[in-house]
Amino acid sequence: MIMYEAVIGLEVHVELKTESKIFCGCSTRFGAQANSQVCPICLGMPGILPRLNKQAVEHAMLACLSLNCDITRHGRLDRKNYYYADMPKGYQVSQVHSPIGLRGHVEIETEEGTKKIGIRQIHLEEDAGKLVHEGETISVAQGSLVDLNRTGVPLIEIVSDPDIRTPEEAVAYLDSLKAVLQYIGVSDCKMEEGSLRCDGNISVRPKGSTEFGPKAEIKNLNSFKSLQKSLEYEINRQIKTLQKGEKVVQETRTWDENKEITLSLRNKEFPDYRVFADPELGYIEIDDAWLEAVKARVPELPRAKRQRFIEKLGLPAYDAEILTKDKELAGFFEETLKYYLDAKKLSNWIMAEFMKLLNASQSTPSQSLVKPEDLASLLKNIDKGEISHKIAKSVFDEMFSTGKKPEEIIKEKGYAQISDQGQLQAIVEKVVAGNPKSVEDYYNGKEKALGFLVGQIMKETKGQANPQLVNDLIKEHLAK
Ligand SMILES: [Zn+2]
Repeated sequence: MIMYEAVIGLEVHVELKTESKIFCGCSTRFGAQANSQVCPICLGMPGILPRLNKQAVEHAMLACLSLNCDITRHGRLDRKNYYYADMPKGYQVSQVHSPIGLRGHVEIETEEGTKKIGIRQIHLEEDAGKLVHEGETISVAQGSLVDLNRTGVPLIEIVSDPDIRTPEEAVAYLDSLKAVLQYIGVSDCKMEEGSLRCDGNISVRPKGSTEFGPKAEIKNLNSFKSLQKSLEYEINRQIKTLQKGEKVVQETRTWDENKEITLSLRNKEFPDYRVFADPELGYIEIDDAWLEAVKARVPELPRAKRQRFIEKLGLPAYDAEILTKDKELAGFFEETLKYYLDAKKLSNWIMAEFMKLLNASQSTPSQSLVKPEDLASLLKNIDKGEISHKIAKSVFDEMFSTGKKPEEIIKEKGYAQISDQGQLQAIVEKVVAGNPKSVEDYYNGKEKALGFLVGQIMKETKGQANPQLVNDLIKEHLAK
């Protein structure tokens, strides 16, 4: 039987986080009333004079540099002519002939180790409007409405090389891209708001072959789940087609979220876009000074931070990976580390307790009410034996929802650990007297009985007794 492998390339569209659109001053804010953020320029009215937004170019440059691309110093913007309902100008401004970035890469972690995924190019373009289909899916829509607020929002399209082999690698690649883009702050990368969207190109071929089979392009994947699932489905579909002795057709397909299948949208004829340089926008010239100024703004990127966490802080690779994936979480960790030096204990707490609460409340570290210095003092409280780990969790829950300082909560709730010998001694005596059967078991060599007695004391003190001290005291008492 022939073994097949998939060849996958991704085109990722990223909306750049700029105040205004790429060629006019209209706002780029998401979620406004339909068609409320438009002007003659973004509507493509006659007599318009677009002007290129410098911030959009800088964001694109920063992305290129952070993704290891060469920057095209003398570039231009082209008109790609076609008519589509969400693009009243009849053309899209894009960089067809001189993408701003070329030949980059990102690294991903796979089961076989680190893998480099090539980036063929990054180009700047304008977003189109949005069609709102009335009906379950595009294929059964009864009608469509058009919202042009999104027209002219600056985009970069990041085109990968066909280096991706599995759906898992595709997800890891998108994840890496997203982390880099968030670190450099050029996009908020919210897939649910469409600021990060992705098309997948998939073909299959017999394993070992170097040729490319006919590919299907799946349009508009807007979540990690639909990326993974649609690729799985499509690879399977193409392999089955070949196994039946049929040919895979080169075409554009859409992902049906509900049925979890891909559907043919249109056969891919190669449209002639009649591309020419936009006569109104002129050239993009990037001189040395500008390039150097943007280079100086490239921050420490996720992988470098991850490496530093492993080498300098001694964290396990797993912890470093989780903590650096999200810029805010990494920032919170590093800020707390200024007040609390045990990186591993801190990392454990953040990964277990903090992330649990963040996920449950769907919030980010900066939205939470916990301050780094307060988490640090909570951990110090545990270390000093003032509160138990279990109680610390309740304290932290309250810190998270109220923003109060741990000391305040401990005091208010009377959480402080009981380490007073005399007070505990009395409780030990009471529990021992009340459980003669367990005491007898203990004398008969049943170690478990001791655990039961300790448990009773913890219950009596609502978990506030210092467990080590309780252990010592009860052993001492029973040895008498
Ligand atoms: Zn406008």
